[in-house]
Amino acid sequence: MTKIMSIANQKGGVGKTTTAVNLSASLAAKNKKVLMIDADPQGNATSGLGVDKEEVELSIYDVLVDDYSMNDAIVSTEIDGLDCVPANINLAGAEIELVSAMSREVRLKRAISELSTSYDYIIIDCPPSLGLLTINAFTASHGILIPVQCEYYALEGLSQLLNTIKLVQRHLNKALEIEGVLLTMLDARTNLGTQVTEEVKAYFGEKVYNTVIPRNIRLGEAPSFGQPIHVYDSNSTGAKNYMQLAEEVINHG
Ligand code: ADP
Ligand code: MG
Repeated sequence: MTKIMSIANQKGGVGKTTTAVNLSASLAAKNKKVLMIDADPQGNATSGLGVDKEEVELSIYDVLVDDYSMNDAIVSTEIDGLDCVPANINLAGAEIELVSAMSREVRLKRAISELSTSYDYIIIDCPPSLGLLTINAFTASHGILIPVQCEYYALEGLSQLLNTIKLVQRHLNKALEIEGVLLTMLDARTNLGTQVTEEVKAYFGEKVYNTVIPRNIRLGEAPSFGQPIHVYDSNSTGAKNYMQLAEEVINHG
């Protein structure tokens, strides 16, 4: 069975794309067959996997808006077992173009159901908003992974996210669950990290992953080389952290 997960938080810069890229790549390194779908017009997850987002023939935009088959939009990456459905700036128009479209919330779900390759995991990198792209991702998913940055006001805005999840559960996808909450960019040198960790655990309880992602310079550098962290620097703490997260995700299922 395929497990479909959205990486979502409407706040920007919390580690969604870093998590989508490195969780996907780490799952593939553990011999899982993985598809990463980029649902953010910035296309950072696409380029983070070494795919040239300006050169692709088809992107997620063509699938969502113009009914192209997702099978034709899949590109393979340098990493064994990891494919990608790319996104680029074209997708910025989709949010508006989909408003008047038929079955606008279920387009991604339908495209996934028509895939001819079977994947163990499909990971969707969501944009920093709660619009139709994110709704499509939630409607198509079994679970949501919420990255939360270890900073002041870490929980701010999360009630809107939880509200959107509830609405999707109620109207579009009853089976949708919060898969887990991932603490990101922890700065081990400050007490703030500990405070935020406690706050987030008090709120989400056992949904919080044991794996925490500290700040790691190598994680910030890897995207400019179009490489996931375990390829860029397999000995970095970031690489180890994301491998551990992959292990946790596998054990969850
Ligand atoms: P989002 O997708 O939520 O906007 P990103 O994953 O793009 O967030 O992360 C924002 C920035 O922070 C990026 O430049 C990324 O490389 C960097 N970054 C993410 N996680 C870490 C980390 N654990 N340590 C250092 N830099 C990180
Ligand atoms: Mg992002």
